[in-house]
Amino acid sequence: MTRPPLVLTVAGSDSGGGAGVQADLKTMLALGTHGMSVITAVTAQNSLGVQGAWELPVEAVRAQYRAVVDDIGVQAVKTGMLASAPLVETVAELLADTDAPVVVDPVGVSKHGDSLLAASALDSVRERLLPLATVATPNLDEVAQLTGVEVRDEDDLRRAADAVLGFGPRWALIKGGHLAGDAVDLLTDGTEEHWLRAPRHDNRHTHGTGCTLASAIAASLAKGEDVPAAVAAAKEYVTGAIAAGFALGAGIGPVDHGW
Ligand code: PLP
Repeated sequence: MTRPPLVLTVAGSDSGGGAGVQADLKTMLALGTHGMSVITAVTAQNSLGVQGAWELPVEAVRAQYRAVVDDIGVQAVKTGMLASAPLVETVAELLADTDAPVVVDPVGVSKHGDSLLAASALDSVRERLLPLATVATPNLDEVAQLTGVEVRDEDDLRRAADAVLGFGPRWALIKGGHLAGDAVDLLTDGTEEHWLRAPRHDNRHTHGTGCTLASAIAASLAKGEDVPAAVAAAKEYVTGAIAAGFALGAGIGPVDHGW
């Protein structure tokens, strides 16, 4: 038996199984990697939104990370919901000396408008976490929250990427999915530009899209692919998962990992 590549998610739990750690682990399995988790927060959540959220103590986050890294090892890391400034600071401290590539999904607000990051944590995300990122994957709301840049059309994506790169990640993937028309994302390191385009699927069941994309990037990086190849493969994966998204409960259903 050969050992699969090792991927770690540092993120929040979604009890409904559509986003967060649950989406991350499904994505990692679907892409042939071994997924591991450092859980930062537990949410009571379903297709209608987030009914409650509880942060874990920083000691619990530190202990989970050490347990994984000191024995098993990691070949790529993905961060998602980090909830609060102390948790962002703790995760940044833990990741500061890893050699593994780090995908930072700077999760701010869920599709239902539930806050998954305290406003008081934004400075820590900008100053401590983004500089450690191999790739940062903000959506347009997160770009506005982190940089103040409001993206209204594709031309604005370049300005958004420059503003995000200003905080120090090696690559910025700006997800333009909330603009009208095709789902267009811009990946750039300030020198190269890769425009990723996918036709828009008329499917409202898109819960977990951002988590899935970031985890798919991390899975490909763990396999040794370079960032543009990893992002292209992840975009293809998430586009398939969105196309196959299904109704669940009375609200917004999840993307599907079995497509
Ligand atoms: N819940 C958790 C724990 C998450 O990490 C995220 C997104 O990162 C969400 C919910 C929101 O998912 P979505 O905006 O796709 O509905």
